[in-house]
Amino acid sequence: MYENKQLIIGAGPVGLAMAAALKRHGIDYDHVEAAAGLGGNWHHGVYSTVHTVSSKRSTAYSDYPMPDDYPEFPSGAQMLRYLENYARDRGIADRITYNKAVARAEPLSDWRWRVRFADGEERVYKGVIICNGHHWDKRMPTFEGCFSGKLIHSKDYHQPSDLQGQRVLVIGGGNSGCDVACEAARVAVSCDWSLRAGVWLLPKIALGKPLTDLSLWWLPVWMQRPILRALIKVMIGDYRRYGLPKPRHKLFERHPTYGTDALGYLKQGRIKPRPGIARVDGYTVHFTDGTSGEYDMIVAATGFNNALPMLPPGLLETKGEAVGVIGGAFSENAKNLLAVGFAQPRTGFGPVITPAADMYARLIKIQDRFEDPIGALLRFSGKEPMTSPYIDPVATRRELWYGRLQLNLIDFEIWRYRRHKRRLAEKAARATAAAAQTEAGAAAAASMQPVGDGPKA
Ligand SMILES: Cc1cc2nc3c(=O)[nH]c(=O)nc-3n(C[C@H](O)[C@H](O)[C@H](O)COP(=O)(O)OP(=O)(O)OC[C@H]3O[C@@H](n4cnc5c(N)ncnc54)[C@H](O)[C@@H]3O)c2cc1C
Repeated sequence: MYENKQLIIGAGPVGLAMAAALKRHGIDYDHVEAAAGLGGNWHHGVYSTVHTVSSKRSTAYSDYPMPDDYPEFPSGAQMLRYLENYARDRGIADRITYNKAVARAEPLSDWRWRVRFADGEERVYKGVIICNGHHWDKRMPTFEGCFSGKLIHSKDYHQPSDLQGQRVLVIGGGNSGCDVACEAARVAVSCDWSLRAGVWLLPKIALGKPLTDLSLWWLPVWMQRPILRALIKVMIGDYRRYGLPKPRHKLFERHPTYGTDALGYLKQGRIKPRPGIARVDGYTVHFTDGTSGEYDMIVAATGFNNALPMLPPGLLETKGEAVGVIGGAFSENAKNLLAVGFAQPRTGFGPVITPAADMYARLIKIQDRFEDPIGALLRFSGKEPMTSPYIDPVATRRELWYGRLQLNLIDFEIWRYRRHKRRLAEKAARATAAAAQTEAGAAAAASMQPVGDGPKA
């Protein structure tokens, strides 16, 4: 019943894009979601006051623009409505089964997949497409000492009232850390912001437009960097003037932080900058510069681990911050397995995931006439496993565009792959035969040797 179907795991923006692509390409699938509704993070993972950091144009699916009456930076509620409308208009909403979490997915000997659900049900699918997101496995900080106040991860921060009446310490300079620090500056008793290392804070708006909409993203990254540094110099100045450390990494080596509201609050004294934490003692936090502060609440905006807990080890390894997928989704060692959504574009998800999902649907079809994992074919064609999750959206779209053209030559590539494999096998067989021959020769020579010391003179 399920054996000719793909199973899409997760109905966040990425799972929805995959569902739409599979439907368009006539690939049969089931779609399950652990939560009670679709939208992923935008359904259950963001605080009530969140707005996108990427503009609506750079966040929308490339084939489904956001409504004209949406602001440049939609709210979380607007994002959710947009995703619900997308799923409805693409005819994929009714195919999602909610409250159905996948606990385990393991390959069978013929590369179909046995899937066990959290409710105990088991099914066998032709393939699995994991779209479980990269913002759920909370990375918590570790301190020397014990904190007597409340310690939460930014994922567990829901609304400003969580911060009211609290002396708050926010840790981490990513987008969530920056947002929560600003919220705390507005509503908490006090807000300190601890950064162990410098971050690149980029203005959300430049020249009257969202930064993510400027044409500079079409340039190569080595040109983007000096332009943005010049912009930062003019619009922001040296981060140290705000009491923040200077970034030591290059711009875009990590996810940039968009938004400069925090800088205003730093200048107003509503946010107090702090370095990294040395140790914690009751309600007192000691910092690496020898200063200390008293807090009721620590919000750890310390990011997330990438995790594929449903897979057996060895099929797709996590390398540092990246999942080692090839071509953005495939495993070199496993057929009929995709893990999509572990690449984080510097701007929004939509313009990248739309063509990527289309490409993956095409490759799923090609897998049907190819004996090895598609990941192995992509690797043979020069694609390397992902080593960093942070991707250049324009370069990736360009790559996908070329990839689409290359699909016209896929039969030739499969032929080259098979020829290469055959040659390797022949070489190995020749080496084995030569070794056997050498061994036989040595045995024959040994049998012709006189036994003992030979005839005595
Ligand atoms: C505060 C915040 C602000 C953000 N702002 C932006 C922004 O401005 N622009 C932008 O592009 N991105 C932003 N993001 C990133 C955001 O994560 C992405 O926009 C997007 O949600 C990623 O989509 P996804 O489908 O990969 O993952 P998710 O949205 O996380 O969806 C994954 C889904 O998979 C489900 N799932 C997980 N495991 C299982 C399982 N075992 N079985 C069944 N279902 C499962 C989850 O319940 C979830 O619904 C922000 C994130 C946060 C936290």
